[in-house]
Amino acid sequence: MKIALLGPMGQLGWELQRSLATLGDLVVLGRSGGLPGDTAACGDLSQPDAVVATLRRLQADVVVNAAAYTAVDRAETEPTRAQAVNAQAPGAIARLMAEQGSWLVHYSTDYVFDGSGSSARTEGDPAAPLNTYGLSKLAGEQAIRASGCRHLILRTSWVHGSRGNNFARTILRLAAERAALTVVDDQIGAPTGADLLADITAHALRQALGQPAVSGTYHAVAAGAVSFCGYARHVIDQARQGGMPLKASPDTVQGVPSSAYPMPAARPKNSRLDTVKLQQTFGLTMPDWRLGVDRLLAELRPHR
Ligand code: NDP
Repeated sequence: MKIALLGPMGQLGWELQRSLATLGDLVVLGRSGGLPGDTAACGDLSQPDAVVATLRRLQADVVVNAAAYTAVDRAETEPTRAQAVNAQAPGAIARLMAEQGSWLVHYSTDYVFDGSGSSARTEGDPAAPLNTYGLSKLAGEQAIRASGCRHLILRTSWVHGSRGNNFARTILRLAAERAALTVVDDQIGAPTGADLLADITAHALRQALGQPAVSGTYHAVAAGAVSFCGYARHVIDQARQGGMPLKASPDTVQGVPSSAYPMPAARPKNSRLDTVKLQQTFGLTMPDWRLGVDRLLAELRPHR
């Protein structure tokens, strides 16, 4: 079986390079191509036609798309680019997958919801994105579903990995520089490890290949929920316990409302996602979010 991975160098793509390797012949297609024997190969999703032409030559049984335009605030001023990468390209790839009878694995976000209320959203709840990034990701989902291809769309939230930019790493940097921090305390969600998501992908995909009826959209996040402020306090607490020299402590992290931090893109306050469908369909158990964050911190600690 041939699996093509797009976006291999992002937080998730990096972990997928590990988790997918045992499922088949894994072919990695980066933004600038780099396929052996195909000098015209293109993995740049802002050029959907060229990516589709490359994938057509590749004839993969499965395409896993970890590439995305993820600059949430910048998307407000680059809506066309966000749409091309997050919606047009996945749609074009999905139509090719439908034609070939191949699978597409794709990732989406809690930002497809408006964040009202306090209950965890299920897959069937109505989407209503608050920002351009969320709109582009929802359009990508819709294009994939409309294509009729076999697919797994995994909606996740607050992704962290030992590579790339994420909230936990930003907090570690700020806590090393400053004795006190202010962090929003009215946005609630589940920090989710890129490693966990990559493992979920491999498990779900393996099952889906023999059971096409499971094709669909799933929520895939770690268990539990926390505010960004609580997340920051946990990161600092664990990092200090692990011997990291930080100026800030959990007690010096002050919670503030989102309104104190106006950003170009509005964010949902309630990012809770219900994972019952994923767990029941694939026989999986979601670990608590702290497990992944503590592991990340252990990885980031210098070896002693
Ligand atoms: P990253 O930003 O870490 O990685 C995204 C990858 O996409 C990068 O390698 C980037 O390459 C690549 N990319 C961007 N534009 C293009 C393009 N035009 N062509 C090809 N590649 C491109 O994201 P994550 O790994 O964190 O996200 C994985 C998925 O999860 C995405 O679908 C995202 O929308 C979703 N998600 C992420 C969340 C998060 O908190 N990060 C939360 C919810 C959902 P380069 O490095 O060269 O820019």
